[in-house]
Amino acid sequence: MIEGTLFVVAAPSGAGKSTLVNALLEREPGISLSVSHTTRPPRVGEEYGRHYFFVERPDFEREIADGIFLEHAEVHGNLYGTSRTVVEGKLAEGADVLLEIDWQGARQVRMGKPDCVSVFILPPSRGELERRLRGRGSDAPEVIERRLFNSREEIAHAHEFDYIIVNDRFEDALGDLQAIVRAVRQRTPWSARRHESLIEELLAP
Ligand code: 5GP
Repeated sequence: MIEGTLFVVAAPSGAGKSTLVNALLEREPGISLSVSHTTRPPRVGEEYGRHYFFVERPDFEREIADGIFLEHAEVHGNLYGTSRTVVEGKLAEGADVLLEIDWQGARQVRMGKPDCVSVFILPPSRGELERRLRGRGSDAPEVIERRLFNSREEIAHAHEFDYIIVNDRFEDALGDLQAIVRAVRQRTPWSARRHESLIEELLAP
């Protein structure tokens, strides 16, 4: 079995990352989204185990000490982390896995898994980023201000990623993201394995 590909997607809050990723997953079956652990309280409509595993800070800190995370970071004052066993288990089964994480986590993943494919999503402008963040309506004003302030730090690391996409027109950005995933999936040895019988048939005397 060839291991699946690990995709890492990062963006400042408000760039539209989650909407893009969810649309990508609908169009490209066979990619599994990793559900992170976080100490952030749930937003309205968020479910335990579907959006995040919501945990208390002492429990999260114990999990860090136990080494359960492939990567973890403090973002906007809360801890976030990716379970190592879940991700490695899925990759070992040959499934592609996508992580929606921040630049600090992406850096850790890149060190541990240099074959990962990383994508950074930019908003088309500062004004648009601000408009999208304020329009979300699910965060308190001080949370929005913190996210706006932190967006500069996130964007400063865009050049560390394999690809950068601008989410101006949603359909274009989705097309770009899908193009990256599709190109990666046609690489050998993955595609050679998928098309093994075709290659054999074409080579038959
Ligand atoms: P939110 O609270 O809006 O869901 O996410 C805030 C930020 O935390 C986003 O940049 C998101 O990508 C990042 N994040 C979510 N899960 C993880 C994770 O498991 N690890 C890291 N490093 N960042 C994460």
